[in-house]
Amino acid sequence: MNGLSELYQQLIIDHNRNPRNFGALDGANRTASGDNPLCGDQIRVYLRVTNGVIEDARFEGNGCAISQASASLMTTAVRGKSAAAALELFRAFHRMVTSPPAEAPDAKALGKLAAFAGVRTFPARVKCANLAWHTLRAALEGDPGGVSTE
Ligand code: ZN
Repeated sequence: MNGLSELYQQLIIDHNRNPRNFGALDGANRTASGDNPLCGDQIRVYLRVTNGVIEDARFEGNGCAISQASASLMTTAVRGKSAAAALELFRAFHRMVTSPPAEAPDAKALGKLAAFAGVRTFPARVKCANLAWHTLRAALEGDPGGVSTE
């Protein structure tokens, strides 16, 4: 169980216990839901996008600590960003969690999101970390039809 201390870093524990931006968003004009049946994680993302800028981002969901902390940090990270910048962050995050464990995360681009680099040594957890981001992309691309990691 050695690497678990790395995986469940303090930041992830904190965001799971006290998720930021949790709850439905009044006035949301983009929304999408996603689920990760492998682990039982479910996320619904709510966005208010005006002139291509994500003015507000919230989520509802349940599941493992990684999936919920990821949604909490994701909504925090994209709020105030343009949709294009949020999608760029999605790509950077996706690159990080699918890169070899020995590779240093791009901390400059990712900021606190680099905390999820630890999931690379737990392949089953990568989908948990990615779920919120795939759901964000579906919301931005106007696809409310439901994302599944399967
Ligand atoms: Zn999970």
